[in-house]
Amino acid sequence: MVDFADTPEQAAFRTEVKTFLEDNLPEALKIRDDSDGRGGFGEDISADRAAALKEWRGKLIDKRWIAPAWPKEYGGGELTTMEQFILNETFAETRSPRAGVPDVGSTIMVHGTDEQKKEFLPPMVAGDTRWCQGYSEPGSGSDLAALQTRAGRDGDDFIINGQKIWTSGAHTANMIFALVRTDPDAPKHRGISYLLFSMETPGITVRPLEQMHGGRGFNEVFFEDVRVPVKNVVGEINRGWYVGATHLDFERSSIGMAVGQEQMLGALRDYLVGEEEADSGKSSMSTNDQARADFADRYIEANVAKTLSQRVISMQSRGQIPNYEASMTKVFSTEFNQRIARTSTKLLGKYGDIRDRDGDYSQMRGRWATSYVSSVSSTLAGGTSEVQRNVIATRGLGLPRG
Ligand SMILES: Cc1cc2nc3c(=O)[nH]c(=O)nc-3n(C[C@H](O)[C@H](O)[C@H](O)COP(=O)(O)OP(=O)(O)OC[C@H]3O[C@@H](n4cnc5c(N)ncnc54)[C@H](O)[C@@H]3O)c2cc1C
Repeated sequence: MVDFADTPEQAAFRTEVKTFLEDNLPEALKIRDDSDGRGGFGEDISADRAAALKEWRGKLIDKRWIAPAWPKEYGGGELTTMEQFILNETFAETRSPRAGVPDVGSTIMVHGTDEQKKEFLPPMVAGDTRWCQGYSEPGSGSDLAALQTRAGRDGDDFIINGQKIWTSGAHTANMIFALVRTDPDAPKHRGISYLLFSMETPGITVRPLEQMHGGRGFNEVFFEDVRVPVKNVVGEINRGWYVGATHLDFERSSIGMAVGQEQMLGALRDYLVGEEEADSGKSSMSTNDQARADFADRYIEANVAKTLSQRVISMQSRGQIPNYEASMTKVFSTEFNQRIARTSTKLLGKYGDIRDRDGDYSQMRGRWATSYVSSVSSTLAGGTSEVQRNVIATRGLGLPRG
């Protein structure tokens, strides 16, 4: 039988995290803004909140909980994967903001040299670097290996020319990790390298793109004779495809997401029951049988999402990198996000589609109406659901490629 109960050590660690959060979370962050994450993907937050988050990050740095599983020499806390999960879970349960490191850090940890680890990892923990991901191009999204951004060798440097698109957060990032073509004559998966460089390097132009919900988290990024040292290649030159794939496996396994979704459902339930009791007319919980049944389905799915995440965690704790398992988690959790958003707007009834944060009829600061629109993109970002299903079919089930 699978036993999900904490061991005595895990239970003690859970108590330690809860107590730390109760004693240390700044007051300003205890009142959680329900519209947090409304735009996501690198969009701006208010100056007050940014200051409170900076203070909070300092406390988490001291506690070594920013990159909990990393070695201490790079600012980590050397926690086990399970302790890391407990940390994420407790932060989500108490709705405490979780400062972390970008997935590129985990990729450098697996494939980087000691010199690269020393140079790039500590500033991630300190929050001094903000990274963006330069993978997609106008002609290569799902077929990523078709990318054309060219990096030609010139002594100890590469000179980059080309264009990326859909680069989330490039307008605020000061670093980028990019896939570039270093051998145009090799078969397409073989001539690619994974390169790290500063967004302040001469020759980079960032042009923002507006999204349908009004957010501006996306960009086009143009490179014109951008000079980057060869020593910034992670892994072997021309073998960057495999480094980039490791990165996507980390990105898709999204450990924290399932816990957050369960919390979101709990917050929605509490809100709707409160509105029913107040008889405000802002909930259709008691009058819409179908929506109520849908909510029960979402609750079942929240448990499935958590179990999928637990599988990924148990693999990671054994030192394995989840591959098609990460794709399963990604498909399920992102499609689940969209189902939660649809169910919420049904249950919130006639006011459910008001996105305004502070309007008289806004509910939960317009969070769900925003989520209804913004969650559409979650099944595209990080590789579409169709592409994930291809990975599961071929690498997971051994079915023939089409
Ligand atoms: C919110 C968001 C954030 C993003 N952030 C970044 C970022 O920071 N950096 C970055 O590099 N990219 C980013 N992207 C881009 C994202 O990775 C691509 O949009 C995605 O990989 C799909 O590529 P595409 O848009 O070119 O669509 P296409 O590849 O042109 O696909 C179009 C449609 O065809 C389907 N399709 C394509 N090939 C197959 C196939 N073999 N089998 C079945 N169906 C197929 C797709 O599923 C899709 O429905 C982001 C995207 C979104 C939505």
